[in-house]
This record gives sequence, C-alpha cells and structure tokens, in this order.
Amino acid sequence: MFQPTLPTEDPLITMHRDLARTRQDKIPAAWGMVIDLAKCIGCHACTIACATENNLPPGVVYRPVIEEEIGTYPHVARRFLPRPCMHCQNPPCVPVCPVHATWKDDEGAVVIDYEKCIGCRFCLKACPYGARTSDFGEAYSTGTPELAGVLVSRSQMERGYAKRTAPEYDKDWGDRRRASPVGNARKCHFCLHRVHNGQLPSCVTSCVGRATFFGNLNDPQSMVHRLVGSARVMRLKEHLGTQPHVFYLT
Ligand code: SF4
Repeated sequence: MFQPTLPTEDPLITMHRDLARTRQDKIPAAWGMVIDLAKCIGCHACTIACATENNLPPGVVYRPVIEEEIGTYPHVARRFLPRPCMHCQNPPCVPVCPVHATWKDDEGAVVIDYEKCIGCRFCLKACPYGARTSDFGEAYSTGTPELAGVLVSRSQMERGYAKRTAPEYDKDWGDRRRASPVGNARKCHFCLHRVHNGQLPSCVTSCVGRATFFGNLNDPQSMVHRLVGSARVMRLKEHLGTQPHVFYLT
C-alpha cells in the first residue's frame, strides 16, 4: 500500500523555532541561507516578496531568479537559481569601499550604512556575483496619469509606497525622495529588520515550494546547520575564496 512520506511539520514552523532558540539560548548568530535547486520552480514569488518588503524602486532587485540550461544536449534540463547577496565570509565588496560604509557584521551578514555610502559604485564592480545595484531615485509612479478615485493613480501610488523607504537595518529612512538610500548601493540584507524581530526573511516565507531555508549556522540543532551537511551542497564560485553564507543543494 502507498505510504505518503509528507513532512510532519511545515519547515517554516521549524525555522521560526530555530530563530527563537537562538534568541532564548543566546547562541552567537552566524546567519546563513540554503536554497534547494531541486525544489525551486522558478515562480519568482521570492523576487516579488523581496521587492515588496524592501519597497524596491525600478532597477533595484535584491533576489533575481536566474533561469539556466544545464547538461549537454540531448541530456539537458532547465534550472532556476535564486541569487541573493551571498553574505560572503570574505567579501570582496568590503575592502574596496573608500568610506567604510559596508562591512561583515558580527552576525554574519554583510551590511551597508546608507548614511555613509557616497554612491561611488566600487562595490558593484568588486562583487563577483552581481549582487549589488544602485538606487537612482526612480519610482514606479513616474509618468503615471492622475486619475481621480482609482487605486493606480499617481497620488495613490505615492501615498502607498513611492515616498516611503522600507525599514531596512531597523531604521525609519523617511521620505525616500530626499534621502538615503537614494544614490546608494543596495543589496539583500537577509531581511535583518525581520530576523531581529523573530521573523524569517521575506523570500523564505513566500517560497511556495519551501525551497529556501534560513537560520543560524552556529546552532547544531537548526535546519540550515543540518542542510549544509548534505552531500548535495555547493556554493557559487567557491574557487574565489569568498566563502558565501548562501549554500545551494543541487
Ligand atoms: Fe559582497 Fe557580493 Fe559577496 Fe554580497 S555576494 S557579500 S555584495 S561580494
């Protein structure tokens, strides 16, 4: 008789418990992500959830999903590869910053201080993963007609999101038309403003295939700690010695 082998618990519940254990037991954090490429169906839900969470303007994408063909004809397959910032242990983007506006923090995330960043874009060039983009201050509401009483009118869009900056790095950045991060480098920050409040990154909770995992690599009981021990694990461009904190299961 067919025996279903469904997981007994949604991985989101397990990972939320992992986050709570790190806080309660005061385990030093080394945040990491695992992405199971066999489960990713290329729906781009994570890309959209990230853009919504971080109120990303045109041209700024923290988590694209790259579609690639693998194998040799006729034995080929299509694969979807989500590509956030790798939060490298040895990040090439950090030493090139002339004003020390980016660094590896003590929880394993590579962060940016928008107040210090001068927008020189050296870090964009240095990142071997193309994980950084520039915010040129654009808005999706630009050029939208003003139509009274409809949700997509320019004034409605401006009230809804175009003037607002997401609370990245646990800070209210105010009206984005006049201040940082306009003019700055931007990238995935592991949704630290959510993680510090016991929530998983937006890309993790939105993943319909449960293909993305997040947690504390230092916690031997955590889901990510167990997954990085898999024989299927790999990291992108390992030969560069960047030691990403984002792992893939092939
Ligand atoms: Fe820096 Fe790029 Fe590594 Fe992210 S992926 S830490 S931006 S070098």
